[in-house]
Formats: sequence, structure tokens, C-alpha cells
Amino acid sequence: MNEEVKWIIKQIGPVMILEGKNFSKVPYSRSLFINGDDKVLIDSGADPALLLDVEKEYGIELIINTHYHPDHTLHNHLFGDVPKWINPIEYETSRTIEGIAHANGVFQEWGPNGVKNWKKTLPQEWTKNLGEITGTYDYETETKFGDVKVIFLHTPGHTSGLSCPYFPELGIVFTGDYDMTSFGPWYNGTDGDIDDFISSGKRLLTLDANTYITGHQKGIFSKEEFKKKMGDFLGIIERRDQIITRYAQEGLTFEELTDIGIFYPKKSLENTILKTWERSGIRKHLKRLGLSIPETSNLVIT
Ligand SMILES: [Zn+2]
Repeated sequence: MNEEVKWIIKQIGPVMILEGKNFSKVPYSRSLFINGDDKVLIDSGADPALLLDVEKEYGIELIINTHYHPDHTLHNHLFGDVPKWINPIEYETSRTIEGIAHANGVFQEWGPNGVKNWKKTLPQEWTKNLGEITGTYDYETETKFGDVKVIFLHTPGHTSGLSCPYFPELGIVFTGDYDMTSFGPWYNGTDGDIDDFISSGKRLLTLDANTYITGHQKGIFSKEEFKKKMGDFLGIIERRDQIITRYAQEGLTFEELTDIGIFYPKKSLENTILKTWERSGIRKHLKRLGLSIPETSNLVIT
């Protein structure tokens, strides 16, 4: 293998942890490679040269996507002949651009015209990555790849179908977008749910595991560390609740509230998809808090 081998962060038994560019920060992500009798790649957001090396050295027989987001399906297209599976809830959604547009809040926020414009911005690979998925795996049952046992936990919240692969015999869990970053929890698509996000996060803490591998940036935690981080991470939801409540009480309209930059930095809201997620995320908090505010200010002209 060439020098890209440095991107293999760690190997635990037959499971290799493969790094993505920029410490797997979005729009990249970490991948796992099960290098047993069966060769299975979980998520394809890792460095493309490294993935191709792994393919050359060991072969990849199956790609599994934890969910449909582009940072986790990023390099599916590099392995045209390899079968690809996703979770059963998102199989249908991920088959059409319309399905993705709905799930991402594009339709909800901007209607059919917004979807039309958004389609024009999508990279070609993006649709290819999803279009090549032809199968699904089962949640919550033991699946064996060679000797390696995996249970695809159904951990909704980030998306409705997100799966966290759990290796009971190795004490490993791939926590994906429970990434413990300072950005905080992401549930901003229409298929995301704040309460589910919290319950699934708490469930991860009940597993008999001591290696928690995040999909982005932070890396690997012991159970104790992960538990502590989860408190801070989920605490960000409450902080968002408080900020939004305060602004709503001050009488801000939805348009004003979604212009401040509560999830994303204010400047980045010029980017339409980030603005879409800012709006969709704030809607979820308002609903959860039972707050209703006007969409825009009603100017009374006399
Ligand atoms: Zn995601």
C-alpha cells in the first residue's frame, strides 16, 4: 500500500477505521472496513485514494450506508460493480431527487420552484452515489459478515432511518452523526426529529461497548468519555430552545429569527441549503416549544 496507509486510524480486530479528508469534517466522513472473510465497507466518505487502496489490497464486496446523506455516501460511485445497501426506511427516499428534496426541507421551505433550482446545483456523483444502491439491510438483528457480527441499530433523529452499526463481540459502535462536535446535534431535515435524536443518543450509552467511533472530526471515545460528551452535546438542544424562546418573546418574526444564525453562522446563511436547514431546524424548535410567531411582520399602511 502507498503512504495513504496513514489514513487508517486504527484497527480493532478485523475492523479498520478509515479517515476522510480534513479529519472527516463535513462534507467528508469516516468509514469502517470489515476485513474478515467478508470484505464490507461501511459508509464511503473516507479519503478516496485510501478507499481505492483498500479495494486493491483486500477487495470490497459490499458497501453499506448508514443513511442517505451525501457525506456518508460520498464515494459510492467509485465502486460501480460493488453492491450497495442502505437502511430500509431510506431506500425509497434515496431513489429520487424529489424524495431527497422533501427530506432536506427544500420543498417545505421553497416549494416546487426551489426544488427545481436546487436540482441544478447538485453534483452528478451525488445522484450516482444514491442511484447505485440496490438493497437494504435489516435493523436490530444480528448480521454476520464472515465471523464478524454486526447489529444495525435503528437510531432515528438525525434522519428517520439512521443506523448505528454495533459490533457486540468487539464492543464497538459506529455512532455516525452523533459526532460530539461543537456544532451540536443536526436534525434539520424534515425527516429529522429532536425527541428521537435525544432518545437514540441515550440508547447508545446503554450498549455494552467501549469503543465509540464518530463519523466526523472527534474520533474515538471510551464509553465514559462518550457519556460525558453526550451530556454536553444534547445540552446544545436546550441552549437552542432557550435562544429561540427569548427571541420569540421579543416579538421577532420567523423571517427575522431565521436570519440571525442560530444553527449556522449568520454569514453562511447566504448559502441556500444552509438557510433551508436553518429555517427547518428553527421550525422544529418552535413546534416543540409550542410557540407560534408570525411569518413576516404585517405592516399596516394607513
Ligand atoms: Zn448525516
